[in-house]
Amino acid sequence: MDTGLFPSTGRRMADEVRKLTNKPVRYVVNTHWHDDHHGGNQVYREIWPDVEFISHARTRTDAIEQSHEPRAGNTARLEKAIPDLERWLGTGEDDEGKPLDAARRKRVEQAIAFYRAAIPELESIEPTTPDLTFEDALVLRRGERTIEIRWLGLGNTRGDVVVFLPRERIVATGDLVVHPIPFGFGSYYADWPDTLGNIDALEADIVFPGHGAVQRDSAYIDQLRALFHDLVVNVEVAIADGANLEETQERVTLAEWKEKFAGSDDRKQRSFTAFFVQPAVERAWRQAMGEPDTQKVQ
Ligand SMILES: [Zn+2]
Repeated sequence: MDTGLFPSTGRRMADEVRKLTNKPVRYVVNTHWHDDHHGGNQVYREIWPDVEFISHARTRTDAIEQSHEPRAGNTARLEKAIPDLERWLGTGEDDEGKPLDAARRKRVEQAIAFYRAAIPELESIEPTTPDLTFEDALVLRRGERTIEIRWLGLGNTRGDVVVFLPRERIVATGDLVVHPIPFGFGSYYADWPDTLGNIDALEADIVFPGHGAVQRDSAYIDQLRALFHDLVVNVEVAIADGANLEETQERVTLAEWKEKFAGSDDRKQRSFTAFFVQPAVERAWRQAMGEPDTQKVQ
């Protein structure tokens, strides 16, 4: 399931599959529309022409509208950013005149290297969208093995699906579960805790997150449930006090949660703030205020 961010990532994954079996891949589940979950689809089709890509119906729509259609514009933005970042390295300060310390300089250098590698990859993507879509569940029965592909509610996106093997008690969650730091863009926080509860209810022994370490109990899923619940409650309390977005962002820092998820690790702390708290508080505020769902994320 899922094929990575780029064709080259898809190729690496396909090579790993070929080490395990010489049988053809018949089905690939794209768990949701984010770029890092279907960017290698074309490679699978090239290697295994009969492969079918399966997703929730809304994931197909979102992959077209949110991932494929804006790609050229996004790639152009990366291209435009490189000379700006190079200027920062040259002058030793950013556009606001703030000097770059060693750690930030390193991050800027890494960003430039990543953009340079990403641009030709993004340009080589041929949109390869799901062929087989469903709403609630699709069950494949193959000999002894039953493969349930299920939509368990709103969460990371509006179309995340999990792949569950009931006999083997294994579930692959896509990005409904991301370890060790959740990813907070464009999500559905009021619903996500119940969706995670539905994953818990499968009573799988082995949980494969969309990113990160395999889980063998529900502790991490329950920690995520509590975090999302707390986020929604805190944002609602701030709104009840009349807080606007900016005031809500000042108030809802989720500091104890940062400690729980990131400990004293600097990089994880920064990720928790940048990839979770900042986008999630804003998203939760907009949703609680009843703003329409634009799905313009990532
Ligand atoms: Zn992902």
